[in-house]
Amino acid sequence: MTEGTDIRGRIEELRERIRYHNRRYYVEDAPEVSDAEYDALYGELEALEGEHPELVTADSPTQRVGGEPLEGFEQVRHAVPMLSLANARKLDDLHEWDARVRRLLGEDEEIEKLRYVTELKIDGLAVSLRYEDGRYVRGATRGNGTVGEDVTANLRTIRAVPEGLSDDPPGVLEPRGEVYIPLDKFDEFNGRQEAGGKRPFANPRNLAAGSIRQLDPKITAERPLTMFCYGIGEGGEPYESHSSALDALKGYGLRVNPYKVHDSIEGVAKECAYWAEHRESVGYQIDGVVVKVDSREQQRALGSVAKAPRWAIAFKFEPLAARTRLNEIIINV
Ligand code: NAD
Repeated sequence: MTEGTDIRGRIEELRERIRYHNRRYYVEDAPEVSDAEYDALYGELEALEGEHPELVTADSPTQRVGGEPLEGFEQVRHAVPMLSLANARKLDDLHEWDARVRRLLGEDEEIEKLRYVTELKIDGLAVSLRYEDGRYVRGATRGNGTVGEDVTANLRTIRAVPEGLSDDPPGVLEPRGEVYIPLDKFDEFNGRQEAGGKRPFANPRNLAAGSIRQLDPKITAERPLTMFCYGIGEGGEPYESHSSALDALKGYGLRVNPYKVHDSIEGVAKECAYWAEHRESVGYQIDGVVVKVDSREQQRALGSVAKAPRWAIAFKFEPLAARTRLNEIIINV
């Protein structure tokens, strides 16, 4: 066997394994391996594809977002795709990314004003809300990024999803964010599960994801879910910067992920290093810091690659295994 067929074989094997774990995680809310184990498989595939770009195929998990929508739900097509994020594992990766952003913006007259926004990366489930004339009309999961599940009634049970917006929002507005469960609420919920003789849930992310993707909204209503918004899909055009869009969402009465603005990548790196040390001081599960170019014009100039925007990157923390009890996962209870 030649080295070429070996590599091809390994790539196919990795793709098959990753597809299997994607299904367990995104579709069934029941992962079998830790995020660190998954990330190691994904990282190996990404590295092999990087060395052999001729072997990259459109159906590779490195080119596709999330998992397919679950049968049983109506499907929602996202007018603005819900993408994933490129990852930075080390602070050096942030500096490399900054250099790439500057290179791509090249002649941009505004390059002097390049600013970055940092936000905590919440480990929950991405959803898109839709408001028409200020009224909540639909809610959807990210699904495969293009088509998600219609979970309108389930999201309506969350207090942080208002029925009506205040302060004259655009006719169509799609706030996007993460549904999650605060750690104290998760512990209380699991305590009640155990007291009732039921098995506890593995971690807040799985409980949140499983709770949103319930066919009966009454079950969702019993779960201690909340939501932070961190962006806008359709209706986001009028805002000149990401930070002004977040301020506007707050003004409309939505719960917005706190953010900071930086005028250098050094400031961003400091912020990431701080949170890597203090992640457990936050009352909910976070797995990194998301860094975004603030200017919408610069975002547009940078564009996207297959599954992630070029104008954002997630600095991922080292994995924390303590809260994951993978052998005790419950599916769709
Ligand atoms: P991602 O989680 O690395 O990044 C994209 C997501 O970040 C967005 O969709 C959004 O939901 C979320 N996010 C949180 N806070 C945000 C903020 N402030 N701004 C913007 N987005 C924010 O990418 P992904 O493709 O959703 O998931 C990949 C990760 O999921 C892997 O690295 C792995 O850790 C985990 N995973 C684990 C398994 C497993 O079997 N254990 C399987 C598949 C995926």
